[in-house]
Amino acid sequence: MTTTSALVLFSGGQDSAVCLAWALSRFERVETVGFDYRQRHRVELDCRKVFLAKLREAYPAWAAKLDEDHMLDLGVLGAISDTALTREQEIGFAGSGLPSTFVPGRNLVFLTFAGAIAYRRGLHALVGGMCETDFSGYPDCRRATMDALQNALTLGMDRPTPIETPLMYLDKAQTWALADELGGAKLVDLVVEETHTCYLGDRSHRHEWGYGCGTCPACDLRAKGWAKWRAA
Ligand code: ZN
Repeated sequence: MTTTSALVLFSGGQDSAVCLAWALSRFERVETVGFDYRQRHRVELDCRKVFLAKLREAYPAWAAKLDEDHMLDLGVLGAISDTALTREQEIGFAGSGLPSTFVPGRNLVFLTFAGAIAYRRGLHALVGGMCETDFSGYPDCRRATMDALQNALTLGMDRPTPIETPLMYLDKAQTWALADELGGAKLVDLVVEETHTCYLGDRSHRHEWGYGCGTCPACDLRAKGWAKWRAA
């Protein structure tokens, strides 16, 4: 195992796409993993392959480092959770005070499986787009949760398993800026065109920041971040 390799949790959304570029600019070998947990809208999963293909095409130096893409079937997670991301349910706040889009245990499960793949593939770090800033308040996106999980994985697999979260303290405007810094306008365009964030799975409305319904909380964050970054 080399410490210059990483496995990126790549969903096909804006954040994980920027994380992938971040990893490719730092590590010698990078692989990606995506999870099918019967999310209500599978459009994000469709975006993954297209984004990966176009990224390879646009950045030959990154293509040389970008190794296998893993797709994991975690249908069981959709079967045990009753949330607005996995069922036809209104997006809002649940009785717990958490958004109804919160899938309990999701990141814990994702990172544990990612740790197992990294172990098998001899990859050192796990990289994810978890973020505490201007955010829906998912408890499994906090750095403290990542620290605990990193310790659990390191102990449980008896090898260092760092979890890198480059977006943890960035807001959405800074995430657009990071895309620009890492890959220039070409990468920003790729993120706009080929990543998906909208909770409603809308790919029919095109805005300057990309596709989406324009009103759900995910579109709202993405649009506001874009506007703030463009105005800066
Ligand atoms: Zn939307």
